[in-house]
Amino acid sequence: MRAAVFHNAHDIRVEDVDVSKVSDNQVKIKVAWAGICGSDLHEYNAGPIFIPKDEESPLTGRKAPLTMGHEFSGVIEEAGANVDGLKVGDKVTINPLITGEVHKEKLIDMYKGFTFVGLGSDGGFADYVVVDKENIVKLQDDTSLELGALVEPTAVALQAIRESEMQFSDSVAVFGAGPIGLLTVIAARAAGAKDIIVFDLSDTRLKKAKEVGATYAVNSGNQDPIEFVKAHYPDGVDRTFEVAGVPITLNQAIQVTRARGMVTIVSIFEKAMEFNPMLLTSSGVRISSTLAYEPDIFEATVKMIESGQINPFPVITDYIELEDIVDKGFETLINDKSQAKILVKLSGEK
Ligand SMILES: [Zn+2]
Repeated sequence: MRAAVFHNAHDIRVEDVDVSKVSDNQVKIKVAWAGICGSDLHEYNAGPIFIPKDEESPLTGRKAPLTMGHEFSGVIEEAGANVDGLKVGDKVTINPLITGEVHKEKLIDMYKGFTFVGLGSDGGFADYVVVDKENIVKLQDDTSLELGALVEPTAVALQAIRESEMQFSDSVAVFGAGPIGLLTVIAARAAGAKDIIVFDLSDTRLKKAKEVGATYAVNSGNQDPIEFVKAHYPDGVDRTFEVAGVPITLNQAIQVTRARGMVTIVSIFEKAMEFNPMLLTSSGVRISSTLAYEPDIFEATVKMIESGQINPFPVITDYIELEDIVDKGFETLINDKSQAKILVKLSGEK
């Protein structure tokens, strides 16, 4: 079968590989669609970051070369003997999170070590993938498999809302209108935000931000975010999401937030940065961060997408073939900031 395999930064190859055998606790999925994630881009650009390269992951016993792809949907092709409640032909998506401990508090387990299907084990940029039953989340028969591939990044946004302790009618600022920034806007709307102010450098992305629910979409290359927010909210906004991952936006995020408000870091920072803690001390702004999702958030995301309460569909900006994943996927996402979520077509089943 075909698979996009990570060998090293700037070295991802579409190769012919064997499908692994299905053990009693595993499920084989015929992949329909797989999204390219910002963290995949970080791996391509500056990796390995999350992908184990020199030593095997203690959680999976695997290291590169590995098939990437952790945002995917598909149909069950084969189920192991110990797999209950799932059958051949079921539509599914994957909760790709693999944690260091299990059966305690899932989100804390994660901080005892974590990896993802598609980063620490073979993932969904392939015709087939074999996944542990714990990672499978069933979809309704009439759920779109394209939407199924968007559950994972949408769950990231929902978890970010939980970490921010956002309340109904809060004012919100979002720095960065890439896929997770846009999904954060969608999630904040669903959670009852009063106003959402989005900053980015790309007018195309800002247009998209408006489309998915931003009250104001502001090009921070032309307008100072701090001045803009203070003109509308002199004391600052209640909740701010840092989804750009660069030093300047984290500093600005703190400065546009009100005393006792919260800045939540959603992005992955490729580099360390200089930071003055006095920015927090003197402003009374609190800071939190988020990674992945708790299981209930993941399940809620599926239900909210299936009920139409949340619609992540507008974040899809392109569909590509697996063979084109480097040129039309990774390279395009790095060079063309008008792109948000690119879906890779595997079986292409709807
Ligand atoms: Zn992702």
